[in-house]
Amino acid sequence: MGLFSWNWSAADSLPGKECRFYKTLFDGQVQCRLCPRKCIVAEGKRGTCGIRENRGGKLYLITYGKPCSLGVEPIEKAPFFHFMPGHRRLVLATVGCVLRCRFCQNWQISQAEFEKVPYMELSPEQIVAVALKQKVQSICFTFSEPVVFYEYMYDVAKLAHEHGLKTSMVSSGYIEREPLLELLKVLDAVKIDLKGFTEKFYEEMAAADLPPILDTIKTVKKSGKWLEIVNLVVPGHNDDPKDMERMCRWIKENVGADTPVHFTRFFPEYKLKSVPPTPVATLVRAYGIARAAGLRYVYVGNVPGHPMENTSCPRCGKTLIERQGFQVRKNSLKKSGCPYCGEKLRGLW
Ligand code: SF4
Repeated sequence: MGLFSWNWSAADSLPGKECRFYKTLFDGQVQCRLCPRKCIVAEGKRGTCGIRENRGGKLYLITYGKPCSLGVEPIEKAPFFHFMPGHRRLVLATVGCVLRCRFCQNWQISQAEFEKVPYMELSPEQIVAVALKQKVQSICFTFSEPVVFYEYMYDVAKLAHEHGLKTSMVSSGYIEREPLLELLKVLDAVKIDLKGFTEKFYEEMAAADLPPILDTIKTVKKSGKWLEIVNLVVPGHNDDPKDMERMCRWIKENVGADTPVHFTRFFPEYKLKSVPPTPVATLVRAYGIARAAGLRYVYVGNVPGHPMENTSCPRCGKTLIERQGFQVRKNSLKKSGCPYCGEKLRGLW
């Protein structure tokens, strides 16, 4: 795009930005209050995410203004299916993550050391300038874990809104309530990766716990911002039909039957290279479980051309949005309604 250049040197670049949510302790230590890990960070050290560093008793986000990923993609790739279908988004990420998912599909940046991944130097103003130049309709924070580059995301999102752009975040949902509420003021849509529905799965596969993520999902819904949920189905690890049924019932009872839920196909990656790709039949079974539990918008993902990528009217069953992979082939919605029976579909259309 000609507005930036790669940079390999962390030493002579922008100094980062002081974090917003942390507490000063004794002996120069600080406690980060951004995610449920609540790391206590000693002078000169970094938190678990690898990008929040204690410098002289103050906590700094060292990747502020230093994205390692920037590009333009369809919103369907998120996947967001009920958020302005077919629009182009600017995607943005820095290195770092709060989780340690053994099946991570973006481990090259989420689990990387900051100094080992090339990055660009782009201020929030420059990011928004790129977005406007590229004529995208939204900016999406994604790929690694946007929570860890919170201050950068917040400043970009705020500025994006001032320029008429929409904003979205794709996240694990591992974030404390106070920073989340603040962040939601500058986001339009949030997609949460609900990776499984047992404590055991989260502990063993992601080194995290489930309850804070469920709290995040409820908080996003309550805020009125658009919410979608994705579940990457990993064969033999989170594909127990009983757990899937419990998850779908929880979603319906806590955030409503109109919340879109995507079951996506796993491909062997990172520390689970020996696990085979998810059989399509497993995804179809998950779809059936979710529909039987009363969810109205259920999708199968990472299976290009599968009919369960389409959006159907929950009342008359007619296909309203046809997709092929990440492309929208046809959108028959009239404003937000079904042209056949008049049913209003939930989403940001
Ligand atoms: S954001 Fe990073 S430093 Fe802060 S608590 Fe979470 S893992 Fe620790």
